[in-house]
Amino acid sequence: MTEEHPLLSVEDLVVEYPTAHGPFRAVDQVGFQLRRGGSLAVVGESGCGKSTLARALVRLLKPLSGRIVLDGTDIAALPERRLRPLRRRVQMVFQDPYGSLDPHLTAQQIVAEPLRLAGVSDRTERARRAAELIDQVGLPSSALHRHPADFSGGQRQRIGIARALASRPDLLVCDEATSALDVSVQAQVLSLLRDLQAETGIAYLVIAHHLGVVREISTEVVVMRAGRTVETGRTADVLAAPADPYTRALRRAALDPTAMRGLKPRHVLEGSSS
Ligand code: ADP
Ligand code: MG
Repeated sequence: MTEEHPLLSVEDLVVEYPTAHGPFRAVDQVGFQLRRGGSLAVVGESGCGKSTLARALVRLLKPLSGRIVLDGTDIAALPERRLRPLRRRVQMVFQDPYGSLDPHLTAQQIVAEPLRLAGVSDRTERARRAAELIDQVGLPSSALHRHPADFSGGQRQRIGIARALASRPDLLVCDEATSALDVSVQAQVLSLLRDLQAETGIAYLVIAHHLGVVREISTEVVVMRAGRTVETGRTADVLAAPADPYTRALRRAALDPTAMRGLKPRHVLEGSSS
């Protein structure tokens, strides 16, 4: 039997923020593995540490301890100089479609920027690749010369996805990439992500606070609460028979369409004991 090593292996990860009252531990001993081309979801109520985890994984934050092994290299403590060549391999799509794109740039410039950083020095080649990426995420070529303000939230997320794909990463971390969008637009973006995965074999780490997203797009799920892992397993199993009461409450939130839209799972949890 050959055991292929995982694309990403996270072990005992701890991330702290300095505060006036001393360090605050936002991620506490979290661990999981993600195989090449696989898709894993991290779910949990608002404030449980999902974005902190995501930012540590792409090394926008430096963890206090633990390992983040990307294709055999532990990047948890790597200095920036040694991190740089690995950065293009893990990209992130952010939650806020309005704040995450530079309003002064055209869609083409936004998508071409990572190509420039990756050393594609020929301007025409960058423009060609940007046009290809814009097409790949389902936007018309007329989008190329427009600015973020000209697009809807869903279209902006498509531009954010195109930008993230530009460096041909092995892993895309989507931090609630669809949660600011209307339900029908969410479904379109999720379907785009699924198609892109089928085309490119990219792996996903999808962060969500409701379980609908998870069911659509991930085979494995990690449930987080207050910085810790409360449950982990195959998505189908966890959804069918959640072992932890917290996961059951998250699942109830996912089944109730009103809870899905506005309510934070924390509120659902508070009401769940009755
Ligand atoms: P989530 O993405 O699950 O909503 P976050 O990772 O954003 O959660 O936040 C986890 C916890 O860390 C929260 O309690 C939040 O208030 C705290 N936190 C986030 N950023 C900072 C920061 N820069 N300084 C101090 N505490 C922070
Ligand atoms: Mg968050």
